Amino acid sequence: MADRAPERTIEALLLEARRFDPPEAFRRQAVLQDPRVYDQAAKDPEGFWASYARELHWFSPWERVLDWTLPYAKWFPGGRTNIAYNALDRHLAARRTKAAIIWEGEPGDERVLTYGDLHREVCKFANVLKRLGVRTGDRVAIYLPMIPELPIAMLACARIGAPHTVVFGGFSAESLRDRMNDAKAKVLVTADGGWRRGKVLPLKRNCDEAVEGAPSVEHVVVVRRAGDAIKIDMREGRDLWWHRLMAEAPLANEAEPLESEHLLYILYTSGTTGKPKGIVHTTGGYMVGTYATTKWVFDLKDEDVFWCTADIGWVTGHSYIVYGPLLNGATEVMYEGTPDFPDKDRFWAIIEKYRVNVLYTAPTAIRTFMKWGPEFPARHDLSSLRLLGTVGEPINPEAWIWYYEHIGKKRCPVVDTWWQTETGMILISPLPGLTTLKPGSATRPLPGIAAEVVNERGQAVGAKEGGYLVLTRPWPAMLRGIYGDPERYQDQYWSRFPNMYFTGDGAKRDEEGYFWLLGRVDDVINVAGHRIGTYEVESALVDHPSVAEAAVIGIEHDVKGQAIAAFVTLKEGNKPGGDAVDTLKQHVVKKIGALARPEQILFTSELPKTRSGKIMRRLLRDIAEGRVLGDTTTLADPTVVEALKTRYEEEAGS
Ligand code: ATP
Ligand code: MG
Repeated sequence: MADRAPERTIEALLLEARRFDPPEAFRRQAVLQDPRVYDQAAKDPEGFWASYARELHWFSPWERVLDWTLPYAKWFPGGRTNIAYNALDRHLAARRTKAAIIWEGEPGDERVLTYGDLHREVCKFANVLKRLGVRTGDRVAIYLPMIPELPIAMLACARIGAPHTVVFGGFSAESLRDRMNDAKAKVLVTADGGWRRGKVLPLKRNCDEAVEGAPSVEHVVVVRRAGDAIKIDMREGRDLWWHRLMAEAPLANEAEPLESEHLLYILYTSGTTGKPKGIVHTTGGYMVGTYATTKWVFDLKDEDVFWCTADIGWVTGHSYIVYGPLLNGATEVMYEGTPDFPDKDRFWAIIEKYRVNVLYTAPTAIRTFMKWGPEFPARHDLSSLRLLGTVGEPINPEAWIWYYEHIGKKRCPVVDTWWQTETGMILISPLPGLTTLKPGSATRPLPGIAAEVVNERGQAVGAKEGGYLVLTRPWPAMLRGIYGDPERYQDQYWSRFPNMYFTGDGAKRDEEGYFWLLGRVDDVINVAGHRIGTYEVESALVDHPSVAEAAVIGIEHDVKGQAIAAFVTLKEGNKPGGDAVDTLKQHVVKKIGALARPEQILFTSELPKTRSGKIMRRLLRDIAEGRVLGDTTTLADPTVVEALKTRYEEEAGS
């Protein structure tokens, strides 16, 4: 049942009926306090975005705010700017000695880069790239761990107008090779290795393998990170040490005045639904969009310490570690490792140590913390926190409340932010000083953003009806295409509904106009004519005290067409035996209704996830329907799905 949006959804999604108003103290100090901002933006969206563009530096002014010939937008055409200049040089007068990046390595080493330091390093690396023959328009691939050289390399690329393509360090040689070939990268920037749970990831060795099959790559620049902990080979003439090149690089570098539509980067999507796409982002609009949304959604002030826990290999890290916060002159934390090393309290220790004020993480991480138990955050002083955010998947109300209570101590608003690699910036999210929060809802489109829920024919549906989430007006950071594949761009996003961008997600709106994301439309299940969002059943399961995480899929059923199968992981200390299956089935019936009763429940210690932490339901469907597994290259741990397949077949056969 591919690509069907829920026509009917279930009241019981609102499992958690509590509402949370912005605390008075928060509201009074918020960046956005006046609700009229929505109307002002809707009346004159172009004027609204232009007012934010004017807060940034342009070498020459734009001629128009927007040229829109569907499906191609040009924002601020005629204008010349540079996003690295705006993220660094623009702050030097007032913030040269202010911390830009507070970095913590997994082994516990620390490094603080002020705006002055970061500017200097970026200028030097821009000169290194130029000396290696990188010209405006040449693509540079970056395959680094979460170390300061990663944002430095990206900003150096942006400074000279060389589009970067960052490949997450957890990807294999093969995935790296495919992405470099698609982008035709001229230079690859990597490290000897990176730390992960006390072990060294063999990044340079992966690069050696990948570059064998990537003929466009002329040079590999290698950061020394793991040092003696890993042995690597340096190929004469091709491979160069970062520190040697930097030692000889001149300090002075003028940022290139680039056309607003100059290609800033290519980033491949997570591949949750299929083969990753090379999403294209350009300079001016992306800059304005990430600048403004960072300010509003994270309510950033000069004295704040912001921490986005994403990896820079994903769009969240691009927009809300590298570009948005630095465009705002913020101080941010960057961490190399995992949340459970050396122990399961590492995140909370980091928050306590650096007095983090605003935390942005993912539902998958929150569910993991729930599974580990509240004693880990309880070990630390989290009183510096004043705002919490999530992104990546719908957040189950249960996880929302846990985050709110155990991390935010009922003091911090939670902003559930909906967006995509393609959108470049957050589009649907609360404004923390204005919006009454409903756990599980991303609430409303941001000022200037027009979203709608439509049926198969592209008509807006009524409250609570459920359908396809679409965007009906261009926004500054929107993708400009899929690299090298204009047809797929047109087909994937602009063909299903005339004049609308199709997100691929299902959603519904409630009577107050709040948006509830229901998951991807191809994950929706049709049980005897009732369309049920996977997220609704998963939330009902997670609502049970024993359940840590659940993934739900549709399986073929003779009578009902489809039935529900659930894969469930239990919280620590719970056992799958006894009447656990019946108890959980009953719990779903109580929460949603008999129509959502799972036909099968399989307990598992892990669920198959992408390397960005999203559940890959398409692989679970392959397992349940006895098919050969689809593309598994973006899985975090391929053994999980293999083991699950074997167990599923055993249990189905018994
Ligand atoms: P691919 O497009 O390759 O299958 P992907 O969609 O997982 O991969 P991303 O662009 O990283 O790649 O993720 C965007 C998607 O994540 C959204 O379309 C949506 O399904 C989900 N998502 C992100 N944030 C939220 C949120 N706050 N609430 C609900 N869903 C979200
Ligand atoms: Mg997607």
